[in-house]
Amino acid sequence: MAIRSLLIANRGEIAVRIVRAAQSLGIRAVQAHSAADAESLAVRMADDSVLIGPPPAAKSYLNIEAIIAAAKEKGVDAIHPGYGFLAENADFAQAVVDAGMIFVGPDAAAIRLLGDKVAARKVAKEAGVPTVPGSDGRVADMDEARALVEEIGFPVMIKAAAGGGGRGIRIVDSFAEFEKQFPQAASEAAAAFGDGGLYIEKVITKARHVEVQILGDGTDVIHCFERECSLQRRRQKVWEEAPAFGLSPDIREKLTASAVALGKQVGYKGAGTVEYLYDGDTHDFYFIEVNTRIQVEHPVTEMITGIDLVAEMIQIAGGAPLSIRQEDVAIHGHAIECRINAEDPAANFMPNPGTVDRLVVPAAEGTRFDTMLYEGYTVPPFYDSLLGKMIVHAPDRASAIARMGEALSKLEIGGIKTTVPLHAALAQNADVRAGRFDTKWLEPWLAGNPLRPETTKAEHAL
Ligand code: ADP
Ligand code: ADP
Ligand code: MG
Repeated sequence: MAIRSLLIANRGEIAVRIVRAAQSLGIRAVQAHSAADAESLAVRMADDSVLIGPPPAAKSYLNIEAIIAAAKEKGVDAIHPGYGFLAENADFAQAVVDAGMIFVGPDAAAIRLLGDKVAARKVAKEAGVPTVPGSDGRVADMDEARALVEEIGFPVMIKAAAGGGGRGIRIVDSFAEFEKQFPQAASEAAAAFGDGGLYIEKVITKARHVEVQILGDGTDVIHCFERECSLQRRRQKVWEEAPAFGLSPDIREKLTASAVALGKQVGYKGAGTVEYLYDGDTHDFYFIEVNTRIQVEHPVTEMITGIDLVAEMIQIAGGAPLSIRQEDVAIHGHAIECRINAEDPAANFMPNPGTVDRLVVPAAEGTRFDTMLYEGYTVPPFYDSLLGKMIVHAPDRASAIARMGEALSKLEIGGIKTTVPLHAALAQNADVRAGRFDTKWLEPWLAGNPLRPETTKAEHAL
């Protein structure tokens, strides 16, 4: 069934992005919103909107009953979950289908299987994809865990099977530490994710985070190459690129083929991301997880391939086959995305909601700003602090970094503190420019207080 109307069950910049994609396809966009988001850009842009509850996400964007009721009231054909919130909730995907509508994403069974990070490791192994050395399944108790750790050696990570968003991960490097952390991790995971299941992975030191975008229509699965997301703070991505730099054609072929194999193993439908850790010295890569949804950093892939991933996932959900063949997907140039948050990077990333009294967005060649902001908008304090993403595209990596520096210097967001100065400093940094970083580079660099007013000047002079 072709989709004629779509409810967007999300907020912020991704809601704006989905409204835009729906409208470009001639689909009526209905924005679901909490009471705090009545004045949001997505609500203003959408063809219609519907209130789903009070500000706290638990009562609105995470409220399955309220969202289904709103969708029925508006008579929409389909629901797009965006990322975060209910995007990887199998019960929600099922509830949408049970209510006679289309869920824009994989079916509930695939979400359940791949969303469980332990079950996903098993699927990866079955598809011949290398995984990080670690437990075969959930570790039942301390005895089992101890035996495994003796085998793989410290440091290890204790990870929550249901974790996500950089949460539910602990590094331990001794048995004493392990015995203390393991029970704590279990109770914390139970409280945070409603599932106390844990598994263990060896810590891959000096790893880069490289991930492959896949698209499936239930019959075929293709890849849209890879992204590099190693610049992370608290295991959350800060700056992303496509393609990953320095991959040989042979490694790129192996990496992307493994992601496609994994997708085919489950008959994947929709847009998904297979995440890996990549050792730039040995060229080994290890599967870590699958995200069964659109990702924050999807625009860098769109820029280098020319594919509209959000439109594609909506059309697939409506029953259309993939509109692109694998041989037609190619890498053109280099793209970078900087996540711009309402946080003060000079004050330990303190959240900084408030009213945007001035907004100037550069309109330049190869420059795209995906945002929820408009001049006069008040950023509510209830949700995560992502305001938008500056995305640039250029013929090569060096010119993309230069273009990013230029775009950030022309971007003006007045009235609130944002992470723009952090990104401006990164764009000037010699290690970033040379691609000399891994997932552990950013935090120690930040600990050196690079954004203190006096050093900021010196950095810029370099
Ligand atoms: P991406 O690669 O798209 O950035 P993230 O893991 O950073 O993926 O998650 C995207 C969004 O979803 C973020 O806002 C993150 O906080 C949220 N998120 C992801 N998984 C969970 C989870 N299990 N619980 C709560 N929030 C999550
Ligand atoms: P989430 O579900 O929260 O996104 P991931 O398993 O994708 O969790 O891991 C998030 C980040 O944590 C990775 O990008 C990487 O920086 C780090 N990480 C995860 N597993 C390992 C590992 N085994 N060794 C080293 N770093 C890891
Ligand atoms: Mg991840």
